[in-house]
Amino acid sequence: MTNGPERGILWIISAPSGAGKTSLSRALVTATAQFRTSVSYTTRPARPGEVDGTDYHFVDMARFSEMAERGEFLEYARVHGNGYGTSEPWVKSQLFAGMDVLLEIDWQGARQVRERLPGQAVSIFILPPSLAALETRLRGRAQDSEEVIARRVAAAREELLHYDEFDYLVVNDQFDTALDDLRSIVHAEHLRLGSQQHAQHQRLKDLLGIQD
Ligand code: 5GP
Repeated sequence: MTNGPERGILWIISAPSGAGKTSLSRALVTATAQFRTSVSYTTRPARPGEVDGTDYHFVDMARFSEMAERGEFLEYARVHGNGYGTSEPWVKSQLFAGMDVLLEIDWQGARQVRERLPGQAVSIFILPPSLAALETRLRGRAQDSEEVIARRVAAAREELLHYDEFDYLVVNDQFDTALDDLRSIVHAEHLRLGSQQHAQHQRLKDLLGIQD
């Protein structure tokens, strides 16, 4: 029976902008002690109310490019004209500490993570209930201009095209139902053989009569 270093599960949540991914992810992380959310690096300016180091690490293009060249990103992509990237050392340290790590990234980043770490990430795509609901939600963000909204609607359609690259699909029509769906996925993934071999290591040894 193998028992390597304790490993958390790497989670990817993607969705078109406006599908409610951030609120759902926050609720999931709050309700689940073993989760840590990765704080991405971005070159986009902070929106009002956003806090550096909490919502994102806000960096300029020079620093972002330097990090990319040094191979410090597990994945990075250009989204809505800005650079976004995930710190590889941070993610790995959390996983080795046995934490589950949540990446809220776009489909391009999700694809890179699957290529870099085959079979290691569980990916979930959040669907809005309808295109009309999505547009209403995008308009609801008062900070954004018409031009930004139009770009986001176009980007949302582009993001939606990649739904079938993910392991799970969750429809965010009723928030509580979608959150229950996410919790069910997390629960089931932790019952998989690989996770249970770590979590139930002692019990399995006892049951099988294995001595140290
Ligand atoms: P926003 O600027 O509205 O916070 O995010 C825009 C998009 O960038 C969202 O779809 C979000 O998932 C994506 N995003 C945020 N952080 C990362 C990241 O580190 N990597 C990638 N590939 N996408 C990200």
